[in-house]
Amino acid sequence: MSDTFRALVIDKAEDSQSVAFRDLSQSDLPDHDVLVEIAYSTLNYKDGLAVSGKGRIARRLPMVAGIDLAGTVVESRSPDWKEGDKVVVNGWGLSETEWGGYSRFQRLKPEWLTRLPDAFTPMQAMAIGTAGYTAALCVDALEDWGRIQPGEGEVLVTGAAGGVGSVAISLLAARGYKVTAATGRPETHDYLSGLGASAFIGREELAAKAGPLQKERWTGGVDAVGSTTLVNALAQTMRGGAIACCGLAGGADLPGTVLPHILRSVALIGVDSVMAPQDQRNRAWERLARDLDLNKLEAITQVEPLSKIQDLANEIIDGHVRGRVVIDVA
Ligand code: NDP
Repeated sequence: MSDTFRALVIDKAEDSQSVAFRDLSQSDLPDHDVLVEIAYSTLNYKDGLAVSGKGRIARRLPMVAGIDLAGTVVESRSPDWKEGDKVVVNGWGLSETEWGGYSRFQRLKPEWLTRLPDAFTPMQAMAIGTAGYTAALCVDALEDWGRIQPGEGEVLVTGAAGGVGSVAISLLAARGYKVTAATGRPETHDYLSGLGASAFIGREELAAKAGPLQKERWTGGVDAVGSTTLVNALAQTMRGGAIACCGLAGGADLPGTVLPHILRSVALIGVDSVMAPQDQRNRAWERLARDLDLNKLEAITQVEPLSKIQDLANEIIDGHVRGRVVIDVA
């Protein structure tokens, strides 16, 4: 292993935080039990917030950014992992309270590692990343609700052309659901049809304030947007349906009423990927291995070098990134 390697580090600045590349050595890394050589990381919305400085994601400084990583174990003091194991890490506080994936090497706690499914290379795992794994958690949550069946009406996906949305559409379509994609970018309709969306509605249609109980349109949904969009999605969900919500790209507020819940038994299911227990993670990765078409995954993925991360962070926050961005940390 070379003596030093490059990492993207968030640190204290006078009245804010600075973000810069720094050369680190192995002795700079946290004293956790497993050393991983990272092949790829990713860009998620949360990475965009952290790196652009538009959100205070890092709660301990200095902090190596990057909430995801995939790579190979090079050293382990844990009986659970050995040199050569291929692993993926999503969340667990990486880039918040624990050093993350925008680095060539990282030391990690054994319980944070998920075995890379045979179906994926490290690059493909990062094409999925937290966004895709969260989409799988959302689909698992909808199926666990137990009252939504493929072939029984339409399922809504908001923030459709983003990372969570793109993978959610692919996974739902693969299970036979009829998917309506809500997007603010009509130019992505062909792309979204290719993933399996069969109908579209405009982002603005769901963003406008409307009544607390609207025409019932969706058997269920995956929401990455929050705010009025989520409120309208709930108000348009059929009796007994459910929306799995994971995001706040349109706002963290929830300006609605309890009426869809108490008059139509509509469920709002919250999905947190960061601290999800290992069994849920394994199940989500199994779903991805089973249902995600690798050609579709390739079609939604671009690979970019770590050197471009600051520009890319601004792009994802401004809503200009389509699908998934893999970050090559080499
Ligand atoms: P992306 O930026 O890739 O996708 C978000 C999409 O939301 C955009 O592509 C856009 O879709 C839509 N959008 C953006 N801005 C607005 C707006 N102002 N109003 C309405 N729609 C908007 O992000 P990700 O897919 O990576 O993440 C989506 C959300 O999910 C984020 O809020 C993220 O923080 C959250 N998240 C939460 C996780 C959890 O554990 N709960 C894990 C992963 C993500 P389009 O162009 O199609 O309209």
